[in-house]
Amino acid sequence: MRFFITEPISTEKDLVIADAGIGRQVTKVLRKKAGDEIIVLDGSGNECVVMIKENKKDVLVCEVLTCTKNSNEPAIPLVLYQSVLKKDKMEWVFEKGTEIGVSEFVPFLSEHSVKLGINPARAHKIAQEAAEQSRRGKIPTIADTMLFDAALAHAQASGYVTIIAHNIGAFANIRKCGEMTAKAKGINVFIGPEGGFSEDEIARASQSGFRVVSLGKRVLRAETAAIVACFSVIS
Ligand code: SAM
Repeated sequence: MRFFITEPISTEKDLVIADAGIGRQVTKVLRKKAGDEIIVLDGSGNECVVMIKENKKDVLVCEVLTCTKNSNEPAIPLVLYQSVLKKDKMEWVFEKGTEIGVSEFVPFLSEHSVKLGINPARAHKIAQEAAEQSRRGKIPTIADTMLFDAALAHAQASGYVTIIAHNIGAFANIRKCGEMTAKAKGINVFIGPEGGFSEDEIARASQSGFRVVSLGKRVLRAETAAIVACFSVIS
């Protein structure tokens, strides 16, 4: 079992995990006791095997046995700009996007958005659990919800290659963008809301130099499109 912790980890000294939630999970749910090992991650890519020495009221004192660099992070950052969807769909995107390697989620509002916000604390919790489950070394960050034009500016400022998925019109398939993404220092992917992007939004994205792509002939649900698009470009 793996846990992201906020304490710095060093092989030079014992690690005290003061998060009562982790303490309870380790001792009451997993029934680990002194002498048992767990894996802890510091969120910056370091992953350490530690042995429980003591449990003082769900505060764990552990000996740090080994630390290595987690090797499951994608080679370059992948940022998913997702137009805010209905609660359960958006949460599904946070979970599945984390599993496949999204490094940052940027929720945004566009012309056809119906839902206007997310619960950031819940989104972070979902991303953290999915990162632990999928053995990632980092928890994806979740930006504050922004308007479409601010999202365009944010993407442009990143210096990454940006692609925007649109299902109306004859655009190149995302799988034909390999030459564009191969040398990128990062990739931004834009996915529209349930009602899709407006033609005006697509025109503004094109003017910003973004590549409009198709995900195939069939119209996918926004949450399916998010995962298909990210998985198509991730390395
Ligand atoms: N209401 C729109 C319609 O019926 O034409 C469908 C919008 S779709 C459910 C939501 C988003 O998923 C789109 O804005 C786009 O970003 C993405 N998407 C879904 N299918 C796609 C496809 N075949 N090609 C490109 N993008 C797609």
